[in-house]
Amino acid sequence: MLTEPMSSAPLPCLADLQEPPPSSSGWLPMERAPLPGLDDEEGERLPTSLPPVVDAHVHVFPDRVFEAIWRWFDTHGWPIRYRLPASHVAQFLLSRGVHQIVALHYAHRPGMARSLNQFMAAVCADEPRIIGLATVLPGEADASRILDEAFSMGLQGVKMHCHVQCFAPDDPAMHEVYEACVRADRPLVMHAGREPKSTAYRCDTHALCSADRVARVLEAHPRLRLCVPHLGADEFDAYERLLERHDGLWLDTTMVAAGYFPVELPLRLLRCRPDRVLYGTDFPNLPYAWDREIKRLVTLGLPEEELAALLGQNALRLFAGTPPRGTSTA
Ligand SMILES: [Zn+2]
Repeated sequence: MLTEPMSSAPLPCLADLQEPPPSSSGWLPMERAPLPGLDDEEGERLPTSLPPVVDAHVHVFPDRVFEAIWRWFDTHGWPIRYRLPASHVAQFLLSRGVHQIVALHYAHRPGMARSLNQFMAAVCADEPRIIGLATVLPGEADASRILDEAFSMGLQGVKMHCHVQCFAPDDPAMHEVYEACVRADRPLVMHAGREPKSTAYRCDTHALCSADRVARVLEAHPRLRLCVPHLGADEFDAYERLLERHDGLWLDTTMVAAGYFPVELPLRLLRCRPDRVLYGTDFPNLPYAWDREIKRLVTLGLPEEELAALLGQNALRLFAGTPPRGTSTA
């Protein structure tokens, strides 16, 4: 389902603004990994003055997969501050005032997706405030059937990761994944931006990923609803143009709004299509406080309506099709 723009007023997109584009040259290369952990202060819970908050980018994995991922991060990424089992991940955030979370995972090898999707369905069965997404490996046998089974278990979208799963967005093997999403009217969250790259990945993320490739996907699958995490880092200008052109595209703020990587937050991307950007954190795989990103987002001076859309309403429209209870539709 596509949503209407929140206001009929002209939106401040790239072509309308005179300020220079934000620089992407300060992106901290993961070659210098492990990057430092921050000992920043964490809040006890979200302020009650905030509109309903949905964290649209939270990871849950079975314990052994989480432990393998954390070992990878220890060496090649950053120290993980919240080493919580999946059963505690959602409760940590929900007990601190987050209204709902979107839970993501991804398969690293063929043959993993079915059991991961069953695990995710079980996690969601225990807590209705979790919106769980499915995964599959592009090109693995039965890929579209794996997704159909996951949707029938109640999973509400798909998560893919070009870097970890080593595929290009316009890889022909992705066609059946896109078609499965369109057929079932489920959104796809796909890490299709080229950063943060790492030599520890089995593939060159700059060779695989580009906004141009994502544009080809959106053009070939006009009914696909696609969310690209990390505001499409680091091709912020190109993703701004894609947002202007494609009603099937969403972005999430994950880690780019936290001030951890030395890149300027591309504020225009948040404001260009305020109905198209979701708040997300990457919790629990963070090197800083769980609420660092939202603390920064609320100080940007966004209009109240745009902040409510960013922090929760856009995610619920994308994943659940409904605004949070107790709030009016923007
Ligand atoms: Zn993530």
